[in-house]
Amino acid sequence: MGTTRESGEAYLDWAASTPMRAEAVEAMVAAAHAGFGNPTGAHHAARVARRIVDDARDQVADALGAAPSEVIFCGSGTEADNLAIFGARRPGDHVACSAVEHHGVLHPVEHLDGTVIGVDAQGQLNLEQLAAICDDQLAVVSVMAANNETGVIQPLEPIRAVLDEHAPQALLHTDAVQAFPWLDVATHAAAADLITISGHKFGGPKGVGALVVRSGATLTPQVLGGGQEFEMRSGTHNVAGIAALGVAVAAMAAERHAVVGRVAALRDRLVRGVRAIVPDVIESAIDPVGGQQAFARPITKVAGSAHLCFPGIESEALLFLLERAGIYASAASSCASGAQDPSHVLAAMGYPRELAAGSLRLSLGYGSTDGDVDRALAVIPDAVLQLRAAAA
Ligand code: PLP
Repeated sequence: MGTTRESGEAYLDWAASTPMRAEAVEAMVAAAHAGFGNPTGAHHAARVARRIVDDARDQVADALGAAPSEVIFCGSGTEADNLAIFGARRPGDHVACSAVEHHGVLHPVEHLDGTVIGVDAQGQLNLEQLAAICDDQLAVVSVMAANNETGVIQPLEPIRAVLDEHAPQALLHTDAVQAFPWLDVATHAAAADLITISGHKFGGPKGVGALVVRSGATLTPQVLGGGQEFEMRSGTHNVAGIAALGVAVAAMAAERHAVVGRVAALRDRLVRGVRAIVPDVIESAIDPVGGQQAFARPITKVAGSAHLCFPGIESEALLFLLERAGIYASAASSCASGAQDPSHVLAAMGYPRELAAGSLRLSLGYGSTDGDVDRALAVIPDAVLQLRAAAA
């Protein structure tokens, strides 16, 4: 599916949400018709609905390297994150997460007076700080597999190793919402006890997510009622949404390798093209800023992410010009108000506020095209230069 329309629009906000895949829409419609029964019932119509949910569970389990009984369907990635944090904590325990988490993790951890662990200038977790807060009351540590603003990938094995040594009872949760379109999460998150994904980031529907809860990890359910989802998340299943999630998961996993190669080349061309005209652009976690030393180790980002900071301009003004030209992007992560709050992610990485104020997140996805990049390159560098000229 291409996203450059005849009108010359280019959708470069795939990290915020993605168009649904045709096969997911088809599965959703088919399940809405055939799976109208309540999956918890006993008669034929109920069994048909239950089969649809179970098939999707198999698809998700397969793609995430889990057993079907370890997959809990939820109403969103945010709900799955909340279940992981609130569900893992027992009275007297404490919880922790990285400073660059999505608010679906950060706010629950802050709500529980948990520890927010710092990251370095490339967004990598401070392992010494993690070790220092480890004790036998640490219930869960949550560190995202890939960041929703910068696209930075976080290796999880070193985190697991610290927990194994200093707090072996602690669960490791990873929010893999942004990672799933790009990484083989079954491998990347093999060290995690709890894994979150969300359907709308890879061509599935909004309002459906899943949490892998590895057997051996015990959570307290947060939604009580009919005991659905192995007593872990009550509420009648969103059968059609779950069917579409399963199909999108399987499609993404099947085509991931080809998509990553193609989209990484598009992303690289986009960044190179912007840099050719605006040479002082900063690519987050790749180019050092201010007093930062040149980075000794290369960082890995997900293939679709081009996160840029333009000194001397305001993101809001840039996004206004881009939208007028049909380029849809964002600054920090999308939030309910649509307002551009200063990025807590860039602040945690030590970016000066003035530089973070000029950030632009261009995110590509499986349907991005050469035409999207051409269109972006025809507009973005000129818009930056125009704003700078106006400010001079
Ligand atoms: N976690 C990350 C990293 C995200 O990027 C998002 C969505 O932006 C979420 C969680 C929340 O997922 P949902 O939109 O399904 O609530």
